[in-house]
Amino acid sequence: MNPDEILRHFGLTEPLYGAGVGRESIPSSGTSLLQSRSPVDGRLLGTIHQAGPEEYEQVMKTALAAFVHWRRVPAPQRGLVVRRIVDRLRAHKDPLGRLVSWEMGKSLTEGWGEVQEMIDIGDLAVGLSRQLHGLTIVSERPDHRLMEQYHPLGPVAVITAFNFPVAVWAWNALIAAVCGDVVLWKPASQTPLSALAVQKIVAEVLAEENLPEGIFNLIIGPGSTIGERLISDPRAPLVSLTGSTRIGRHAAGVIGGRLGKYIMELGGNNAIILTEHADLGLAVPSIVFGAVGTAGQRCTSTRRLIVHESMFDRVRDALVRAYSSLRIGNPLDANNHIGPLIDQAAVRDFAKALDHVQSEGGRLLFGGKVLDGPGYESGCYVQPALVEAENHYTMVQEETFAPILYLIRYNGDVNQAVALQNGVPQGLSSAIFTTRMNEAEAFLCPWGSDCGLANVNLGTSGAEIGGAFGGEKETGGGREAGSDAWKAYMRRQTNTINYGSAMPLAQGVRFEL
Ligand code: NAD
Repeated sequence: MNPDEILRHFGLTEPLYGAGVGRESIPSSGTSLLQSRSPVDGRLLGTIHQAGPEEYEQVMKTALAAFVHWRRVPAPQRGLVVRRIVDRLRAHKDPLGRLVSWEMGKSLTEGWGEVQEMIDIGDLAVGLSRQLHGLTIVSERPDHRLMEQYHPLGPVAVITAFNFPVAVWAWNALIAAVCGDVVLWKPASQTPLSALAVQKIVAEVLAEENLPEGIFNLIIGPGSTIGERLISDPRAPLVSLTGSTRIGRHAAGVIGGRLGKYIMELGGNNAIILTEHADLGLAVPSIVFGAVGTAGQRCTSTRRLIVHESMFDRVRDALVRAYSSLRIGNPLDANNHIGPLIDQAAVRDFAKALDHVQSEGGRLLFGGKVLDGPGYESGCYVQPALVEAENHYTMVQEETFAPILYLIRYNGDVNQAVALQNGVPQGLSSAIFTTRMNEAEAFLCPWGSDCGLANVNLGTSGAEIGGAFGGEKETGGGREAGSDAWKAYMRRQTNTINYGSAMPLAQGVRFEL
């Protein structure tokens, strides 16, 4: 299927509008156009009329009305609706995965993997819909019962990053939906067509189920206008934002200012530690996949490699060999390992970061070229870079969203390596390769890795949906996906029930009339 066929498959024919509450999108009154260009070959995939303030109001009002209905639907029945959405996603896995690859530039296997992640989280949400339980707690008072309930919260704003154009929506929206919330989705401006395709799939199911419009909503528009509206709007009690630390910091300030709730899933600066007891056979493929997979554009991409001095030369040589064999090109061709960066601005950031780190003393060991010529006409392809560097360099302290791997030496014990790993402002994903139990446990113990994800003998990149996903420090502290992350999408209520005939007060306080 070529991109035109995929778009026709989803009924996405122009004119395309950025706001939608149901099957048909809302014609935009504004004139702001958004072009979606493929980083694969630079072709124009489609043009979208972005939502303006009027469409925003219409979407929010429809969502609020839908919430009044949806929160009364028993959670297991909400789960059945999500199950139908999941069935439909399974049926559309191939074209949706392809669209993600064309629009974002990730490899086709990762495009399909992203849709599979939506399916997996949907399955988890279906099961969860029968398990949204609180605690019953013994009361200190006679004939009293104490319990906790979780109630639906309201419209949840979901603001997503370009690098997971559809999966991050699913992490939030499918969990929020079984919790009884309605969802307003603002996707990244680089990947609007993937979002429109998902909205079509979901709206179709809701219409077939005779559910009101407004349960799943889409608002495509600039971060500076539509994004700002969402974060400032007190009618959205929860904002889940996935993106850069810069935008997240700003959004957290605005949402915090109105005492709203937020889930921030922001930038990472993920490291793998190779101790002197590492199994290099396991480590090298994990490092290469972590550093160059999705062209280094995963929040969990491996950016730093902290290597024991005794292994350094061997590891460096193995990586240079592996990098020399990487095939860079069209990500829809299964023979290629690496596709393009999202756009030419990202290529410029890659080149600037390499210049900067070299001016700080970094030594380029391999790669770093911007590619041109046949197959690279979009101007978005680069050769992944290996750089020997020190942890304190400014560039090493920052997340450059591109395939640059910094090799950092250490010569002490595992605690020194952990200190280097923790010595950055971000705290998303981390890993250690070691065959020694005491080193692995030192990495996982309370004074070990300070990240939200800490792995032993596997890399930093990617995660299963069963665990809670998110990071600490400048990564924002949010948690999504599995475990008990659902609690963030609900409002918690403590109930005390007196089934006796007296009125004892807590803490033995006496008050008699
Ligand atoms: P970005 O910060 O540029 O944009 C993220 C989203 O915020 C987009 O939808 C954008 O339109 C919106 N936005 C921009 N300005 C806004 C404003 N003023 N108010 C509200 N919304 C606004 O990020 P990006 O370039 O799309 O994505 C890459 C970044 O995302 C990287 O830093 C990466 O690490 C991070 N990321 C983190 C996770 C995670 O789970 N921690 C997952 C994926 C990506």
